[in-house]
Amino acid sequence: MTKELAPLYVVPTPLGNLKDISERAREVLCSVAWVAAEDTRHSAPLLKHIGASARLLAAHEHNEAEAAEQILARLAAGEAVALVADAGTPGISDPGARIVARVRAAGGRVVPLPGPCAATTALSGAGLSEPHWLFYGFLPAKSGQRQKALAALQALPYALVFYEAPHRVLETVADLAAVLGGERTLVVARELTKLFESLHSLPLGEALAWFTADSNRQKGEFVLIVSGSPATQQDDGEAERVLRLLLAENLPVKQAARLAAAISGGSKNALYARALALKG
Ligand code: SAM
Repeated sequence: MTKELAPLYVVPTPLGNLKDISERAREVLCSVAWVAAEDTRHSAPLLKHIGASARLLAAHEHNEAEAAEQILARLAAGEAVALVADAGTPGISDPGARIVARVRAAGGRVVPLPGPCAATTALSGAGLSEPHWLFYGFLPAKSGQRQKALAALQALPYALVFYEAPHRVLETVADLAAVLGGERTLVVARELTKLFESLHSLPLGEALAWFTADSNRQKGEFVLIVSGSPATQQDDGEAERVLRLLLAENLPVKQAARLAAAISGGSKNALYARALALKG
């Protein structure tokens, strides 16, 4: 009989404030034999801080495939492993996905813990009204490619969530305004959970001037959130208006959704779901 693999825990760690480590994350990190860390030097102080004595192994973007094999060998030896990134949730704009995939493909148990993530932390403080959002992470570093990537997102009615590094924030904000339009709201979430944490909302068209007015505003770590395409939001409004009219005429929901989609150009499935909701 083959021996069962020990579990691989995927453990989010604080973005800055050490108190944000969960009780469960602390428990797991203190109980496993190994911690696979993006940067072992970076994670060692955190492990020391919580009194964890696990051995460390390196699992970063340049050795992820080999690290996956090493981790699998440890799990096969019956030793549980916790995977951590420098900050936040592994696998979210960070290494981890290949390791998780390899362990799951080998029949191993992957146990993901909920916890700190810059995207969800920023969203929770953004106060945008869109019910949907799209996590993009880092845009391409070169402006041409970045603008192309943004053009593909331009019409989406979802709040768009980007990660950006301080040395690139100005050029990215300029491209956001150029491609997505200056009318949309930009939420700048900087240094979340840290001493200089700030959240600022402004029209995208004013963002470059705001960033350059004070160089401190360009420092630290950023999540940039842009509100969804206003054109599509208007379309949604038109589709909703037509749908309500048709339902008021007592058309069956399916037919009302089909007609509202044909008239407004909206999504039939979304309108059908909306019609069901309106009908209670
Ligand atoms: N895995 C991480 C997570 O769960 O959020 C993200 C890692 S990614 C390599 C690093 C980027 O996350 C930064 O460049 C920044 O965009 C964002 N980020 C990380 N910590 C942050 C913080 N404290 N405040 C704002 N953004 C942060």
